[in-house]
Amino acid sequence: MLNKILNNLKKYPDDECYQTKNNVYKNRDLYKYVCNIYSYITKKCSRQDRVIVYGHKEIYMIASFLACSFAGITYVPLDISIPYERKLNIIKQVKPKLILTSDIINEDSSEEITSVSIKDNDIYYIIFTSGSSGQPKGVQIMYKNLKSCMNWLIDICDINQTVILNQANFSFDLSVADIYLSLLTRSKHYIIEKELTEDFYLLFNALKISNAEFAVMTPSFADFLLIDKSFNKTLMPHLKKILFCGEVLSQNTVSKLYERFPYIKIINSYGPTECTFAVTSTVVTPNEKISIGTPKDDVSIYIVDKNLNRLNEGEIGEILIAGESVGNGYLDKSLNKNTFITYDNKRAYLTGDFAYWKDNKLYYIGRHDSQIKFKGYRIELLEIEQVINNLNYVQKSVVTTTKNKYGNINGIIAFVLLKDFAKDDTIKNDISNMLPKFMMPKIKIVEKIPLTPNGKVDIKLLLGELK
Ligand code: AMP
Repeated sequence: MLNKILNNLKKYPDDECYQTKNNVYKNRDLYKYVCNIYSYITKKCSRQDRVIVYGHKEIYMIASFLACSFAGITYVPLDISIPYERKLNIIKQVKPKLILTSDIINEDSSEEITSVSIKDNDIYYIIFTSGSSGQPKGVQIMYKNLKSCMNWLIDICDINQTVILNQANFSFDLSVADIYLSLLTRSKHYIIEKELTEDFYLLFNALKISNAEFAVMTPSFADFLLIDKSFNKTLMPHLKKILFCGEVLSQNTVSKLYERFPYIKIINSYGPTECTFAVTSTVVTPNEKISIGTPKDDVSIYIVDKNLNRLNEGEIGEILIAGESVGNGYLDKSLNKNTFITYDNKRAYLTGDFAYWKDNKLYYIGRHDSQIKFKGYRIELLEIEQVINNLNYVQKSVVTTTKNKYGNINGIIAFVLLKDFAKDDTIKNDISNMLPKFMMPKIKIVEKIPLTPNGKVDIKLLLGELK
C-alpha cells in the first residue's frame, strides 16, 4: 500500500491531489512536504516512536501522516477542535516524541524517500474515541489492518482518478477512508473545512465547484445537506457514489438521496474504530430494508449471546468481529479485557452493537445502551424516534434520556426538528396514538440538530440546552 502511494507521488507529479478552500496542491508539492518532514522526523525519532500531528485538515497533516508511515513511526492525528482538557489528556496518554504543527512545512531538505520501513505488525496510527469511563481511548491500528481495509475499500468503491469529497476531520477514523482512497486511486481529495460547514452559502459553493464524484460521510451529514433543497444533481452533477459509515442510515435519508440524485450508488458500511474504519458493507437500493450488509472477506462476524455462544439466523445478539481488521487494542491495555479477545483462534473484538443475520445479510438493531429500563418498563429509544420521524411534518428527531444527579434515568426526551410549514402543537397528540403512555417522551422543538466534529448527532449539546 505505501509503496503504491510512494510510486503515485513520484510518478505523477502533475496530478492534483489535494484541494482546500484556498489552495490546490499537486503530487509534486505533497511529495516535497513528505520528504522534508521525513528528513526532520527520522533525525529525531526511532521506529515506533509516537508523533502527534496537530491541525485542521491542512496538507502538512497528510504529509506528516505519510512521512511517519514511511519511517515506521506511529502518528496520532489531533484536530484543533478538540477541547483543551481532552487534548491534554490525549497528549498525556500518548507521550509523543514530537508534536508536529504547521511550522513543519518550513523544513527543507533534498532527501528522497527510497524505501518503506514500516512492518505489518507495527502500529500505524492511533485514533482516540470517546470512552465510557469519561477518558478518551486510544485505538491502535496496525499497518496490516489498514492495508486490509484499503484493499477492500478499493474493491467495493471502485473509483479511479476522480474527486473524493471529505467530511470528517482527521481525528476520526471516517477520514481514513477518504485520505487513503485518494492517495491510492490517484484522486483529488476535496476538503470540507470546519468553517465551510458553518456557512451554507460557502459550503454549497464548495460542493458545486468540487466536481466530486465520490463522497465519504455520515448519515447525519447527508441529512444536514438535504435540509437545503438545492442539494441535488444540479449542484453536484458528477456525484455518483456515497460511502456511508458511523451511524444508522435511515430509509428517509436514502429515499431523499434517490429523489435528488436518481443515479446515485449508496454504500452503507459498518464498523467501529477498533476494527479499522469498517468491516461490512452493502449497496443500498431504493425501497429495500436497510442492512449493514456482509463482512469483508478476511473478517468473520459472529452474532453471539452474552456467553459468546453463536446464535442462529434471525436471533438478535451482539456483533463479534474477528479477523484481519481487528486492531491491536487500546493504548491503555487495561481496557482490552473482555473487548479484545481471541475467538475461533482469531483476534476478535466485542462491539456492544446488536444485530441479526437474515439471508446472509446483517441487520443492525442498536446498541444495548439504546435499550433502557424506565420505571420498570423495557423501552427502545430508537422505536420512539422512528414513530416521531414517521410524522409527515417532522424532519428529524433524536430521542434520549435525562438523568438525575445520581445518574439514574428520570425521563425520556425527544428533540424534534420540524419541516418548514409545521406547527408543533399536535405532536404529543399524534404520537400518543402510537406509543404506550410509559414510552411517551417530553418534546423539545429545536431549530437544528447539532453535530459533533465527526458528524454524529451531538446529544450532549442538545441535553445542555435543557439546563
Ligand atoms: P466509531 O468508532 O465512531 O466509528 O463508532 C462505531 C459505532 O458506530 C459502531 O459500534 C456502531 O454503533 C455505529 N455504527 C457504525 N456504522 C454503522 C452503520 N452503518 N449502521 C449503524 N450503526 C453504525
